Amino acid sequence: MAKKGEHRITVALDCTVCKNRNYVTTRNKINTLEKLRQKKYCKYCKKVTEHKEEGKLK
Ligand SMILES: [Zn+2]
Repeated sequence: MAKKGEHRITVALDCTVCKNRNYVTTRNKINTLEKLRQKKYCKYCKKVTEHKEEGKLK
């Protein structure tokens, strides 16, 4: 039996402007094949910037 959440991996989202790691999120590695890119607020840039997935966490 497949456990719920089995295919979810934890990934970090880094600001593409200042390169700071602002968010940690999860994604479904089965449904989402490409790396995440999301517009999010960066507290270092003090504005909404594009955040890019950088590797996965444990
Ligand atoms: Zn930033």
